[in-house]
Amino acid sequence: MKNKTNILLIYTGGTIGMVKDYKSGALKAFDFSELLKRIPELKQLDCAIDSISFKIPIDSSNMNTGHWVSIAELIESNYNSYDGFVVLHGSDTMSYTASALSFMLENLGKPVIFTGSQLPIGDLRTDAKENLITSVQIAALQENAIPVIQEVGLYFEYKLYRANRTTKINAEHFQAFASLNYPPLVESGVHLRVFEENVWRTPSKKKFKVHKNMDGNVAILKLFPGINESLLRSVLNTSELKGFILETYGSGNAPTESWLMNLLQEALDKGIHIINVTQCSGGSVVMGRYETSKHLERLNIINGKDITTEAAITKLMYLLGCNISPKLFKTVFETSLRGEMQ
Ligand code: ASP
Repeated sequence: MKNKTNILLIYTGGTIGMVKDYKSGALKAFDFSELLKRIPELKQLDCAIDSISFKIPIDSSNMNTGHWVSIAELIESNYNSYDGFVVLHGSDTMSYTASALSFMLENLGKPVIFTGSQLPIGDLRTDAKENLITSVQIAALQENAIPVIQEVGLYFEYKLYRANRTTKINAEHFQAFASLNYPPLVESGVHLRVFEENVWRTPSKKKFKVHKNMDGNVAILKLFPGINESLLRSVLNTSELKGFILETYGSGNAPTESWLMNLLQEALDKGIHIINVTQCSGGSVVMGRYETSKHLERLNIINGKDITTEAAITKLMYLLGCNISPKLFKTVFETSLRGEMQ
């Protein structure tokens, strides 16, 4: 008989693991070794749960690439001992971390489910319990002893999404995340409904590999009407800049003024990779659809298609860290590596 499924819970911080200090009224992280005491419902699940916590749990606004590497290393060193992983993380930057991890964990064959909550776990009206309990259930789902989810997911308010397709869209509603360009992988109602046709499968059974070199020499600039030359120039002149995401309008459109073209051309000549990503949360860049993107197409700027900004910036850091040759960079970026783009 197969032993119970083993799940490792990794607590990084965020509202979910906080309790109100009744004296000061402020939210603070609780001792995670007491998790099972706080959420006795977890004992009823048909799986064994271990937990591990960041030494100093953080608000996710303080996340950086070093923290991403720590999470990746925890998964790497425990990969063979657990059937699935649940990462508890603040919702503010969860889509960034989870997107980053989707690239860092190559040929993942097990579930890595990110979740958090809008209200702390001790709050009467908390969304934390449902998010946590269902995330553990999803991480433990198996069919013929094979994990149903074999990718990095993000579970929030009854839906599991592909993590690198998500964006935080609401700081108030329990439904804090959206995935406008890709349907959910699982929906939680009376039953857990898995949409098999949407889940990711590593094309061939290659060996699990963890990438830890995320290159931070990148920038994002969101276009706005009235943007001036000196702003773009100073961003593109950032020392050591290797990759730049231009957040364009609609289906990838930008002003046709010559200063913009010239500055982009100069940056390309210096070897900076430039990616066209739309500011819209849904839909895709289609370079050449309008006159206002023809010039970007002519410059041979990388097409971000329907990628989110969170996935684009983390993919950029990842690919720069992989030392992809400049000749191949555009082709590799425009290829879906973990289901992050069409
Ligand atoms: N500021 C918190 C964080 O991202 C919000 C949350 O946990 O949802 O860490």
